Amino acid sequence: MSTLPKVAWIGLGIMGSPMSENLIKAGYSVTGFTLEQDKLDRLTAAGGTAAKSIAEAVRDADVIVTMVPASPQVEAIAYGPDGILENARSGALLVDMSSITPQTSVDLAKAAKDKGIRVLDAPVSGGEAGAIEAVLSIMVGGEQDDFDAAKPLLEALGKTIVLCGPHGSGQTVKAANQLIVAVNIQACAEAVVFLEKSGVDLTAALDVLNGGLAGSTVLTRKKDNFLNRDFKPGFRIDLHHKDMGIVTDAARNVGAALPVGAVVAQLVASLRAQGDGGLDHSALLRSVERLSGAQL
Ligand code: NAD
Repeated sequence: MSTLPKVAWIGLGIMGSPMSENLIKAGYSVTGFTLEQDKLDRLTAAGGTAAKSIAEAVRDADVIVTMVPASPQVEAIAYGPDGILENARSGALLVDMSSITPQTSVDLAKAAKDKGIRVLDAPVSGGEAGAIEAVLSIMVGGEQDDFDAAKPLLEALGKTIVLCGPHGSGQTVKAANQLIVAVNIQACAEAVVFLEKSGVDLTAALDVLNGGLAGSTVLTRKKDNFLNRDFKPGFRIDLHHKDMGIVTDAARNVGAALPVGAVVAQLVASLRAQGDGGLDHSALLRSVERLSGAQL
């Protein structure tokens, strides 16, 4: 019999599927629920168990991991008679790995406490590749004891796992992460269009740039997207639009100015308004091309 905690996993999308599979590979028993049948079939094929509802998934779980798109979905799966709080056992640990507003995480922790359920916010960075390779950065908010309890499980999903402070802190750090990533992608996209219009060999240019101070994980991970104009997600523009809203709002609340972030937030919103919300965020290149009158 495994002594590892029993895991329920809600939300088996681009990130949740490979992450839950990494837990199965590490020996955890995982019962999952998500909205798409093909994702449930994938979980079963990987050795997990598909549940028919959230209630069924969480009933016997020691740890419940959630990985859904945004605050409204976290609220939908957590609250109400069919939600996690009503159906999980007292003492269970709920680890929400979705990227949501810090305030939603604070409210969730408070509501869960009344039911004897412990909560961590634990959003991640590293993208689909980081999820598959189990090398995510995981930024955690919550109590030290709960962090210590979750750490072995989180180590099966990521490499850099840090308790950032009380409930909501993980989300605040994730918002900063999304600001840095968006600005970095935008700068790379502008460099790509500039280099191409200048007639420089782009592959050679990006290689040498990535070896110097201009190098970044963004450039390493997104270079082929830029070179091949391959914008299959990855991380959808729709989700980055949501995250730019979170960081802009959170920064305004604390009186921090984000002038460059605000411009990039508008560029992300514009790309989405033009119908590119389902593309990978490296598609910011398309908007620079449009602005530069380049052929798409
Ligand atoms: P996704 O859209 O691919 O997957 C979301 C999953 O949530 C879907 O499988 C959907 O069925 C499930 N879901 C939604 N509502 C549900 C409900 N009511 N009940 C059960 N399941 C429900 O999204 P993703 O790309 O995996 O992203 C998930 C979260 O991780 C987001 O908050 C995102 O911002 C964050 N994130 C994504 C990436 C990335 O590269 N994709 C990287 C870091 C963080």
